[in-house]
Amino acid sequence: MAKKNQSLINFLSTDGLNRLAEYRADVKWIEDKLRSPESIFIPVHNQKNLFEETSTHKLDLTPTPVFLSFKEVANFGTGAYSVYFLGEIGEKFYFAVNFESAGKEVEDELLKRGRFDEFRKIMSLMNPVNASLLAYARALTHWHSRNKYCGVCGSKTRSADSGHKIVCKNQACLTEYFPRTDPAIIVLVSKGNRCLLARQRQWPKGQYSNIAGFVEQGESLELAVKREVYEETGIMVNKISYHSSQPWPFPGSLMIGFHASAENLNISPHDNELEDIRWFTRQEIIKSLSDKTLRFPPPISVSFKLIEHWFDKVGQEKLRDLVK
Ligand SMILES: [Zn+2]
Repeated sequence: MAKKNQSLINFLSTDGLNRLAEYRADVKWIEDKLRSPESIFIPVHNQKNLFEETSTHKLDLTPTPVFLSFKEVANFGTGAYSVYFLGEIGEKFYFAVNFESAGKEVEDELLKRGRFDEFRKIMSLMNPVNASLLAYARALTHWHSRNKYCGVCGSKTRSADSGHKIVCKNQACLTEYFPRTDPAIIVLVSKGNRCLLARQRQWPKGQYSNIAGFVEQGESLELAVKREVYEETGIMVNKISYHSSQPWPFPGSLMIGFHASAENLNISPHDNELEDIRWFTRQEIIKSLSDKTLRFPPPISVSFKLIEHWFDKVGQEKLRDLVK
């Protein structure tokens, strides 16, 4: 049972992180952990993460994030950064450090430790626990950067509960905001030995994936699956079943993965979102992967997992071996 659950924890999320939410508002406890030599600080600057210089240049090296100590962070001076508590892994306490208000001098100092890089570009090469920490730090700092002013009265806001709440500074307002996650469905539609895959114009040549889209207000996940598939392909689906989910901090989504059965095979899109939509049999997938005319999202993605789960159910071939 444990093994089965383990397989449903997708990349960019880890069950090893204890978020210790009950301590976020405990100023004394947080202060104590901040100053602990065991605590680890993850710098984020304008949505980029800091990596050790050599580790992002060579493809055969695992990109290694730069972690700072409290002493190093404190040396930058209090106006240069904001700190948010992430949680604990193995008695080490992790914090995100948002350097977006830092000046050029602080930025130059940080650049002596490594270089800021797009996490998304290199995350699949990273250690999964580090990747999940960076994903979390990135999503939380992005939420702060987009909520500097109150949406009710327009006054400035402040961070509270060690970064997990934003409160309006206007005493007559005091509206509270909590970190938001935007749910998006992603679905592998199949019918017998065929699965439905599509590609967007901007994707690399030959890349196909599942149907996906944001959940709308007043809509359940199941109805979002039905609507998105119908809008993008004209196909009606039933037997919608949940598979697994994946945080997608670009900037703040949660991908919720499903399988669904198609009621028919006729493709007739109602919008113009996709460049191409096709049914693939298992044999066509094997052939097209082998002659490199088809490529899938990386195996760390929930989209790959959905295709893999369907593909591997029949026959001897394993999708993971075919994309190596
Ligand atoms: Zn306000």
